Amino acid sequence: MLVGAVLIIAAFYMFIRFFPSFSKSEKNELRTQKNEHGGTEFVRCPLCSTPLAKSENMISKIYRPMNTPDQRMTVSGCPHCYPVVKAGLQRKCPVCGKTVPTEGYLIARLFNRTTGKKHVMITGCTECYKKS
Ligand SMILES: [Zn+2]
Ligand SMILES: [Zn+2]
Repeated sequence: MLVGAVLIIAAFYMFIRFFPSFSKSEKNELRTQKNEHGGTEFVRCPLCSTPLAKSENMISKIYRPMNTPDQRMTVSGCPHCYPVVKAGLQRKCPVCGKTVPTEGYLIARLFNRTTGKKHVMITGCTECYKKS
């Protein structure tokens, strides 16, 4: 009994420590994905880095044509940071590190791999592209 309780508490602390956003009472199961090394990681919003629940989707647009090996894609954000940024969150570009306004977005390339897997590479944001 006692050992079991200690284990549960330890596991709970680990969880809080590694996933602070979990404490905000999110009942939804979080989305996970396999990384390059075969490990499991959380799917996070590339703008505000909030782990996304299975019911939450990124607000993104994919530009045609659909049949090219890489397509242009824009990412406006996730339900946590678009259209309204939740308190305590910041929309930051993973490329330039600048704050991306809500009317701005990330620009990405979507690769359709031959294995059927899609791979997204973020190339910048509206702020990056302003300068160049
Ligand atoms: Zn977000
Ligand atoms: Zn940027």
